[in-house]
Amino acid sequence: MMTSHSDVAALKDLVAEPHLLDARLAQLDTVPLLLVYTHLSGDESLLERCRPYIKGAWSFEVDVPADLQAELRRKMIAVLTDYAETGRALPPAPELEQLQRMCDAAVGQVVPAEYMPMVLEELNFDGTDAKTVRWRKPIANETLAKYNVLVIGLGYSGLAMAIKLKEAGIPFTVVEKNDDVGGTWYENTYPGVAVDTPNHFYSYSFRTESNWDHYFAQGPEIIKYIRSVYHEAELGEHVRFEEEVVSAIWDRHIAQWYVRIRRKDGSEYVHCANVVVSGSGLLNRPSIPDIDGMQDFKGPMFHSARWDHSVDLAGKRVVQIGTGASGMQIAPSIAPKVGHLTVFQRSPHWARKNPLLFAEVTDGVKWGLANIPYYTKWYRFQLLYATSDGVLPSLRKDPNWPEPETSLNAANKAIREQLIEHMRSELGGDEELLAKVTPTFPPYGKRMLRDGNWFRTLTRDNVELVTGPVARITATGVVDKDGIKHPADVIVLATGFKAQAPLSPIEIIGTKGSIRDHWGEDNPRAYLGVTVPHFPNFFILYGPNTNGGHGGSAVFNSECQVRYTMLAIRELIEREAASMDVREEPFEAYNRLVDAEHAQLVWTHPGVKNWYRNKDGRVVTNSPWRLCHYRNLTATFNPADYDIETAKVTA
Ligand code: NAP
Repeated sequence: MMTSHSDVAALKDLVAEPHLLDARLAQLDTVPLLLVYTHLSGDESLLERCRPYIKGAWSFEVDVPADLQAELRRKMIAVLTDYAETGRALPPAPELEQLQRMCDAAVGQVVPAEYMPMVLEELNFDGTDAKTVRWRKPIANETLAKYNVLVIGLGYSGLAMAIKLKEAGIPFTVVEKNDDVGGTWYENTYPGVAVDTPNHFYSYSFRTESNWDHYFAQGPEIIKYIRSVYHEAELGEHVRFEEEVVSAIWDRHIAQWYVRIRRKDGSEYVHCANVVVSGSGLLNRPSIPDIDGMQDFKGPMFHSARWDHSVDLAGKRVVQIGTGASGMQIAPSIAPKVGHLTVFQRSPHWARKNPLLFAEVTDGVKWGLANIPYYTKWYRFQLLYATSDGVLPSLRKDPNWPEPETSLNAANKAIREQLIEHMRSELGGDEELLAKVTPTFPPYGKRMLRDGNWFRTLTRDNVELVTGPVARITATGVVDKDGIKHPADVIVLATGFKAQAPLSPIEIIGTKGSIRDHWGEDNPRAYLGVTVPHFPNFFILYGPNTNGGHGGSAVFNSECQVRYTMLAIRELIEREAASMDVREEPFEAYNRLVDAEHAQLVWTHPGVKNWYRNKDGRVVTNSPWRLCHYRNLTATFNPADYDIETAKVTA
């Protein structure tokens, strides 16, 4: 790769004042800097010398001595100066063997070799986006014009899909029920809403951002990012806001979906599309509990995803029902201002501390991300690995483990003990409260939450934790299982989503009836989480068994599904075929593998009740796979898995 004149000029500016540069490099994280130096220089000696001080992938697990850091900075300045003076090109991605050595040293453990293709794609060194699907033969405009794709929803997944369709020149339309882009991040505006995957990884690999203010951004910052990606992509003419897909019916005679769409004013129209891609999300429809007496409550009552900002909570008596990811963010945010907060905890969740949770990204680090060649890429690798598959082996059941009720294996028990220690210290030694908030099931049985001052909030004078179910709601409060009434001016329902009925309430009718007939009330299944037999030319993003339970990023998973869908659409168009329908055999075989894998993992532990499982106990939302495995499964498209109707499509 050649270095452009502007790049050379930027490098010259960078090294013009070595003392200033040294001071700036001193503000950066050691490991990404070390990786940049190794990459630019080809010299691995410092990597080796720093290796013993790197215990894990998070920056707080690294303790490289100051003299070694100073040497790294000196050498870094020398190598940058050399690039500036010679104008030589920045190196391409490291060769696989070097990449492996760099990755291993950088995270303090051996990274499976299987990861390397995925790392190269994620880091995208040549800037061409290796995940972009390219035509294998010239496609005439008249051929492209015969196809059109309808994308449902413009959240993270739908937006990525729209961008890739536009890049490929495939005609498409996006229908979004809200008046703006963002999906779940647009809808969830509750106090404290924030992501719990670090943003430098929880963002598109094809559109990284060097300017995040936080490692774990709050809702508005994420929306700002999504909006800027949307505007840069210039999708305007393709998008219909405030329109909602009501149903999609497949017409086998013309190989088209008839998609019924409802406008904001209630009027409806039908849109025809060869292909429908759902980006309607998993955590989309609030789950409103059916509690005795709910309708009698006189004050405001709203769900976390439908926060009523017109209600001033200052000084009010608030009852919060639910202590999942949303509830754990809401309570610490509202407790300081409300008069009294009663939290109903039906069952406890595990929560981990992360020192970076509320930390701001310093101007120094932002500068490095924006200015040091490749720093942003290696930084992404660090965070990707920190949050991905490392924990998965500890979520596997050991059949000989002597304490199977509370943990799964020795590593899982160690996590359990660390978590309890953390809770004990946060609760100031209140053993009674500790007993109430300690789950009986193994760590990760429900989603592992991040402790953003949740436990400390429970120790506040104006906060009370009530355990057990809600007995009933009255006009003025909430009654617990012991018959004690907790007065309420406002009730917040942090009660989760209808995750087991994806695509709901859209009616999807394929060649053999409705998707509800195939899935029943709560048993969604799909091949690779994306396609379902008898629903030709229909693709689901963030579909069944694709939610990450042990780590990773929903954006990563959705990019995998977008690529797979694009590969499928390419196959369709290059063949000028009318339809493709996944065959029963690969679909069943894949789902057998998913179920067999889950049987070994924590989410099927008998002591766990979570939103991942349906009423029969089958895990329907979560992926059992390591990230790299799911990436490998979705990185190619096997036409043999599909019945492809090769009759040429007609316009
Ligand atoms: P959730 O995890 O499903 O939690 C719902 C809570 O409501 C649970 O504590 C549940 O109790 C309780 N509940 C439900 N019905 C109840 C009833 N009838 N009576 C009493 N309690 C009841 O929902 P969520 O907190 O909205 O989170 C859902 C998912 O959204 C998360 O797992 C995560 O994937 C995503 N999310 C992510 C973030 C983030 O990135 N930081 C933030 C928010 C949400 P049980 O535990 O006993 O079922």
